Amino acid sequence: MAKNWKTKLIHSDSKIPEGFRSLSVGVQRASTVLFSDAASVRDDWDQYEAGYTYGLYGTPTTLELAARVCELEGGFRTLITPGGQCAISLINLAFLKAGDHVLIPESVYTPNRKFAVAVLRRFGVEVGFYAPDAGTGIQALLRDNTRMVWCESPGSITMEVQDVQAIAEAAHRAGAIVVLDNTWSAGVYFDAFTHGVDVTMQALTKYAGGHSDLLLGSITTREVRAWRQLGVTHQLVGCAASPDDCSLALRGLKTLAVRLRAIEDAALTLARWLSERPEIERVLHPALPSCPGHELWKRDFSGSTGVFSIVFQPRFSKAQVQGFVDKLELFEIGYSWAGVTSLAVSYDFQATPGRPGYGHRIVRLNIGLEDVSDLKEDLGCALEGLSSDS
Ligand SMILES: *Cc1c(COP(=O)(O)O)cnc(C)c1O
Repeated sequence: MAKNWKTKLIHSDSKIPEGFRSLSVGVQRASTVLFSDAASVRDDWDQYEAGYTYGLYGTPTTLELAARVCELEGGFRTLITPGGQCAISLINLAFLKAGDHVLIPESVYTPNRKFAVAVLRRFGVEVGFYAPDAGTGIQALLRDNTRMVWCESPGSITMEVQDVQAIAEAAHRAGAIVVLDNTWSAGVYFDAFTHGVDVTMQALTKYAGGHSDLLLGSITTREVRAWRQLGVTHQLVGCAASPDDCSLALRGLKTLAVRLRAIEDAALTLARWLSERPEIERVLHPALPSCPGHELWKRDFSGSTGVFSIVFQPRFSKAQVQGFVDKLELFEIGYSWAGVTSLAVSYDFQATPGRPGYGHRIVRLNIGLEDVSDLKEDLGCALEGLSSDS
């Protein structure tokens, strides 16, 4: 058919050489996916079963990232979401219904708690919180309608390492599934599925991305049934991740091992040094005995990452603790973590069961890739400044 140039803009006959191979995964952006004939048109979400049907369910870029995360975590299949928090809400929507009961650790990532309180309760789900160190004691909290138990180990900010295996065994006996926020371990330092977890999620925003320039999440299931339940909900909630962001995360994964090694070493050096400082009451780093659940970390984890918290001595006021954060020059102030830049954020915590009330005395640090002596000097200067104020 002879084509007008305007038609050629859309339907081109141009040819380029075939056989391109490179080391990077191509960025495939798409809403529409083409079918070969009218009879093959279908709207199935599972691209592993149906072939590609629609961009919402993943393009080769999205699925490649999903497959790599799944391989690292040793799961059945992985779904990519537009952020870690989206992975959390999607898991709740996929596995809970009105009348169910869900248990969440007190140490959970705050937006996870808020989703449960603000959304799940509104939809008739009963929400309970438990002490992160519950272990087998979780049994007393399980009810006939307990459908899901969340774990996050170590917990956000206060860093309690959980006995995931003991919790999973009790939950399974009661017929509940176990979900783990595995972000801190980057999905590599804690083998969730051999410890009895059914579904994991990660904020890939953190170590997979690794450069503070994207938002992505992942959900990985241990078996096919949970995968199906999740996929159907994902299709109907309609949250697709950007293939551009996925290609950045695929690039990030290539350097994950060297970044983690450098970050782990620097974080351990600084955590040990801080634990000797007179201004600091306690360092909450899972690899240090001063962290709740340290023995479980030793038993279950194969490494540590770059986020930990410090608790100042009771004599320091909120203004002094915030003054410490403000005095830091290399540590920037901001949410999220696991990028190459060191960060510091101060919090104010009331006590809840199994989670001490560190009050305004707690500061979370994210260790980046700066020279560790410079970071130590920066922390040292800010600590000296603090002592002279008091
Ligand atoms: C950052 C974070 C999330 C949420 O990830 P986003 O991609 O920022 O939505 C979830 N869980 C934990 C433990 C996190 O640190």
